[in-house]
Amino acid sequence: MHPKEERTYLMVKPDGVRKGLIGEIIKRIEQRDLKIVALEMFKPTYDQIDSHYPKDEAWVKRLGSKTLNTYNKYGFDPMTEVGTSDEMEIGKKVRGWLLDYMTSAPLVKMIIQGIHAVDVVRKIVGPTMPATAEMGTVRGDFSIDSPVLANKEKRAVMNLVHASETPEEALHEIEYWFGKTSAVCEYKRFGVDE
Ligand code: ATP
Ligand code: MG
Repeated sequence: MHPKEERTYLMVKPDGVRKGLIGEIIKRIEQRDLKIVALEMFKPTYDQIDSHYPKDEAWVKRLGSKTLNTYNKYGFDPMTEVGTSDEMEIGKKVRGWLLDYMTSAPLVKMIIQGIHAVDVVRKIVGPTMPATAEMGTVRGDFSIDSPVLANKEKRAVMNLVHASETPEEALHEIEYWFGKTSAVCEYKRFGVDE
């Protein structure tokens, strides 16, 4: 594969759409000389989002233990908050909050192509938790959400965007959301491809 052909998958999440940030997010991707090669707004079904996020024990447990840590750190009793202190049980609940959040408004999905597309897009987006994300990143510039508030309110952290974490995850997510014969549009970007 040519270095300019690396691809990644990005979704503007419900809060990104409802805050009117679709254009801002696309602008930041394009100004970095990355090329959008597929783009669509759509309403996901619950099942589509359910299959998008991993279901394996390790992933669900990790979600649960992060939330348990947040409760411990800020002095909330998990039994009072969610009725259990079991990592797996809490993980399942958080995963449910995530599915509710992701199906609460339309999403915008896109395929982005360019040099180190996966890593550069993650950099543009910033780390998972907006309250600790650096300014200059999408999450650090347009949100202050934090697990201390989200977990207290029994909802997922709202962080504006999803972006694939690895090239393997990107391949899988592109195929999952756009299909094998994907709607990729070939064109030459001025200053990038010629
Ligand atoms: P994404 O996969 O959506 O790009 P990410 O890779 O930065 O985000 P993950 O750890 O994969 O983060 O978690 C998936 C999503 O679950 C997060 O984007 C966030 O919306 C939500 N989330 C993650 N950790 C927590 C938590 N401790 N409490 C509530 N919601 C969480
Ligand atoms: Mg992730």
